[in-house]
Amino acid sequence: MNAQTPIETRLSAFRERWQTPGKLLIGGEWREAASGETFATEDPSTGDKLADVASAGEADVDAAVAAARKAFEGSWSKVKPDERARLINKLADLIEADGEALALTETLDVGRPIQFSRMIDVGGAVGQLRYQAGWATKIQGETNEISAPGEWLSYVLREPVGVVGQIVPWNFPLAMAAAKLGPALAAGCTVVLKPAEQTPLSTIRLAELALEAGFPEGVINMVTGFGRTAGAALAAHPDVDKIAFTGSTQTGRAIIEASKSNFKRISLELGGKSPTFIFADADLKKAIPAAAMGIFFNAGQVCAAGSRLFVQEDVADQVLEGIAGMARMLRVGQTLDPETMIGPLVSAQQLDRVTGYIESGRNEGASVLVGGGRKDGPGWFVEPTVLVDTEASMAVRREEIFGPVLVATRFSSADDADRLAALGNETEYGLNATIWTRDIGMAHRLARRLKSGSVRINGAGGVDPALPLGGYKASGWGRENGKAGIEAYTELKAVSVALD
Ligand code: ADP
Repeated sequence: MNAQTPIETRLSAFRERWQTPGKLLIGGEWREAASGETFATEDPSTGDKLADVASAGEADVDAAVAAARKAFEGSWSKVKPDERARLINKLADLIEADGEALALTETLDVGRPIQFSRMIDVGGAVGQLRYQAGWATKIQGETNEISAPGEWLSYVLREPVGVVGQIVPWNFPLAMAAAKLGPALAAGCTVVLKPAEQTPLSTIRLAELALEAGFPEGVINMVTGFGRTAGAALAAHPDVDKIAFTGSTQTGRAIIEASKSNFKRISLELGGKSPTFIFADADLKKAIPAAAMGIFFNAGQVCAAGSRLFVQEDVADQVLEGIAGMARMLRVGQTLDPETMIGPLVSAQQLDRVTGYIESGRNEGASVLVGGGRKDGPGWFVEPTVLVDTEASMAVRREEIFGPVLVATRFSSADDADRLAALGNETEYGLNATIWTRDIGMAHRLARRLKSGSVRINGAGGVDPALPLGGYKASGWGRENGKAGIEAYTELKAVSVALD
C-alpha cells in the first residue's frame, strides 16, 4: 500500500484491521485487558467511532511492569549496544515501510491532515529512531582523579535507569512514542508505553512493528487505557524506575505526586504559552506566514505553539492583517484531502475548551480580528482565530488554550530587551520563543533574557532530535532529545578502587 493506492482501498484495509479490538502487548503476547473492558476511539473529523481498544487497569499495568522488569534484569541486559542500535534502526525501517498505512491511521485517529501525518508522524518517528539508535554505541562514562590519600582508580559508569513508564499525549502519538522509545532502548532500559486514550491506534501498530523488528519479549510493553486508571497505575507503580511524561501541566503535577512513593526519576514535557516577537526591521515576508503557521499548524494543538504575538507598533497593522489573511486562506477541512492545512481539534471536550477561551477573551474585552467560532457541520473544527486588544491579566494571555488562537499585543520602539523579556516571561510557562529581527544584538540580548527551553531567531520549525526539548518553570522537568535526552535514561555510578 502506498500513496497511489486508491483511498477507498486504504480505508477498507483500515476498517478491516480494526474490526477486532486492539489488545495490550505484555511480555511479547497480545492480551485483552484482565477486566475484559474496552473503550472506543473516534475520528475527530466526523465524531464517528473508529475502533475499540483494550482498557488496561491496575492488574494489566502490574503484568506489563513485571514483564519489563524480567526483560531488564534478564535478556535485554545481555544485548550489546550495537545490537540495540540495529534493532532500533530496524524498527525505523519497518515504520518507513508501513508509512502510508500509519499516516492514514494517524490522520483518522488524531484528525491531522494527511500531508502532515506523513511528514511529522511517520517522518518524525523514523528520524527520531535513527538519531537515537546512534546513541546506543556512544554512551560514555568517565575516569576521575580523586584527592583521597593513596593511589586510586576512580571511574563513573553510566547505567540504564531501569524500567521506564512512558506516557504520551494525543497530539503527536507516533512521533512522540518513537521519541520516547528511542533513547530508552538505546540506553538499555525496558519500557511500558501508554498512548493517550484519544489516539491509541498508531501506538498499537508501533508495538506490532517492534515485535516484528525482533526486540526480545518484555523489552517493549504497550498498554492502552485511560489516564486516571492505566496512567495513574504506571505513575504510582513501586517497580517503575522512571516516568517520562508529555502532556498537560496539571497532569504533570499528578505524576510528580504519584512518583514520590519510590522516588522515581521523572522527565516532564508540559504546556507552553510561547511568545513570538516581530520587530519592525524583520523580514516580514518570512515572519508573517511563520507566525501564522506557528499557531495554526495542527489547529494549535502543539505544546510549543507560538500562541502569543508581540509585534512592534510600526508594523503591527501590516503583520496582523497578514496573519488574518492567512487565517482566512488556510484550508480548514477534511483531513484526507491532500490540500487541507488545518484539521479538527481532537475531541468535543477540546472544542468546548477552546471556544470557551475565545468567549472568555471576548468577555474580558479582547476583540476578535479573525475567526472566533467553530465551523458548522460535523467534526470538532474551530476557525483560526486572532484576538487583539489583550491585557496581561486576561486568561487568554496567561493560560494554554491548545487551539488555533493567537493573542496579539503591540510593543513600542522604546521597549528594550528587558521590557520585552518581561512580556515574554509573564506566564508560568517557558517552553519556546521565536524572535524576528535583523538587529542581531537585540535578537541575542532577548534570547538570553527569555526563560525558555528553546529560542528560534528568524526561522521556524519543529522538533529536531539533536536539540534538547523541554522547558523552564511550569513547562517541565528535564530535557528530551540530544545528549541530555539519552543521559536522562541513565544513572551514574561512581566506582573507586584503592590500588595500593
Ligand atoms: P490532556 O488533558 O490534554 O488530555 P493529559 O496530560 O491529561 O492531557 O494527557 C496526557 C497523557 O497523560 C495521556 O496519555 C493521559 O492518559 C495521561 N494521563 C492523564 N491523567 C493521568 C494521571 N493522573 N496519571 C498518569 N497519566 C495520566
